Amino acid sequence: MTIIKSEKEIQIIKEGGKILATVVKELEKMAKPGITTLELDRAAEALILSFGGKPAFKGYDGFPYSLCASVNENIVHGFPSDYVLKNGDILKLDLGVLYNGYNTDMAITVAVGEVSFEAKRLMNVTKKSLRLGIKKAKIGNTIGDIGNTVGRFIEDQGFGVVRDLCGHGIGKNVHEDPKIPNFGKRGTGEKLAEGMVICIEPMVTMGDWQIKRSKDGYGYQTKDDSLSAHFEHTLAITKNGPVVLTEID
Ligand code: MG
Repeated sequence: MTIIKSEKEIQIIKEGGKILATVVKELEKMAKPGITTLELDRAAEALILSFGGKPAFKGYDGFPYSLCASVNENIVHGFPSDYVLKNGDILKLDLGVLYNGYNTDMAITVAVGEVSFEAKRLMNVTKKSLRLGIKKAKIGNTIGDIGNTVGRFIEDQGFGVVRDLCGHGIGKNVHEDPKIPNFGKRGTGEKLAEGMVICIEPMVTMGDWQIKRSKDGYGYQTKDDSLSAHFEHTLAITKNGPVVLTEID
């Protein structure tokens, strides 16, 4: 069941979202060749705590870290490790903050050093598909309108849309109803209503969209080992249109 949030609750989520966006920005700066993803995880946790938040993913569904760090063919839920980032990697950072009882969730893909032209294009298309999806998050539209816009744009650019994983509602729990797929038919699915807080998170592949478990046994990667990108924002549906909550003004 979709839980509608009050303006007051959305305000709290926005404060948490600011903390999250600030931490993600710091991690983005740190993600250079030579650093390990475990070092990024430690930094993420320390920063979140310093701002009065808690790492939302730690202990969630058995996940032992604060940060999901997924490199190249790995898409989401990657375990941070002693892997040393190298020039040309593309790194997905997915992080959640629990603040005053409410969660926020955000992901970016970072180019480590100089990356290939195609990798850059994959990242740009994924980021743009998220922006297009957010624009559709208006009262009266449906979940299918978001998925249709996101998915069609990605496929028109020649990339694959991951089917098995999707966005979600968020609030007191990291994952709430409804599910927000990155594909779909216009006008289908639940209607978007004022006070819904959702995460839109396109996961995009350079090759086939099919996925399998990552080598760490927890995360997911592309089945064909092609590169993947992921961007995510938490947003509220308001009478003034979509309001992104995981941004720094
Ligand atoms: Mg999410």
